[in-house]
Amino acid sequence: MLQTLSVRTSSRTEFLDLTSPVQEVVHQSGVSVGLCHLFVPHTTAAVTINENADPSVKADILMVLGRLVSDREKYRHLEGNAPAHVKASLIGAALTVPVSGGRLVLGTWQGIFFCEFDGPRSRRMHVKVVAA
Ligand code: ZN
Repeated sequence: MLQTLSVRTSSRTEFLDLTSPVQEVVHQSGVSVGLCHLFVPHTTAAVTINENADPSVKADILMVLGRLVSDREKYRHLEGNAPAHVKASLIGAALTVPVSGGRLVLGTWQGIFFCEFDGPRSRRMHVKVVAA
């Protein structure tokens, strides 16, 4: 079964740590060994894995993305959120994490982040756990 996590973001750009809710979906699935697939069904949001111990890391990533993807380009997309679309494609809309012993196989410092680039909004992330 496909599970969907609902996310309410509170800033224009932010990383939300969804490691615990994703782990809960894995637990509820009953799958012991397999794969956890994450998919963000939005064009101005993304999903990534990075350090969740020091919150400075996500702030640094957002800072550098903000420099890489300037607000001052001559964008053709007239909705005003072209930088958010570019950032979403740079980071990506999907991830797969191994599952073993009913747990996400993440490194000690790794967490799963929902990446908001055009908030605040109500968002979703689909989670599919498959035995393998
Ligand atoms: Zn747009």
